[in-house]
Amino acid sequence: MRCAHWRGVPLDLAREAREKSAAQYIDRAVQCQLSAHDEGEHFGLLTDAGAYGTALWLRWHGVDEAELVVLPDCQVAAPGSDGEGCCLFADHAKPHTWEDAMGEVSCTS
Ligand SMILES: [Zn+2]
Ligand SMILES: [Zn+2]
Repeated sequence: MRCAHWRGVPLDLAREAREKSAAQYIDRAVQCQLSAHDEGEHFGLLTDAGAYGTALWLRWHGVDEAELVVLPDCQVAAPGSDGEGCCLFADHAKPHTWEDAMGEVSCTS
């Protein structure tokens, strides 16, 4: 099941995300894309419109300041010739989005 944490995107970070990418629009709030977890940092996808193979993420922990991070895409696809790609970033905590039992995670935010 997907993590239920949401975080408002600070205006200055939204502006920075637009400047770093070709995105015209950044969501005002993002939901953590990871599978449900009890500890650690949350990661919400801002846009994948940056440099090829990377995406801009909002990283936050509890009520601390959120920060903008550029992360390479996770390259691990589901087994099989037409395996579904993972929506997360490289070296994220397991599971990959296609392993999530609920199958409710979509790569589009
Ligand atoms: Zn989370
Ligand atoms: Zn993955």
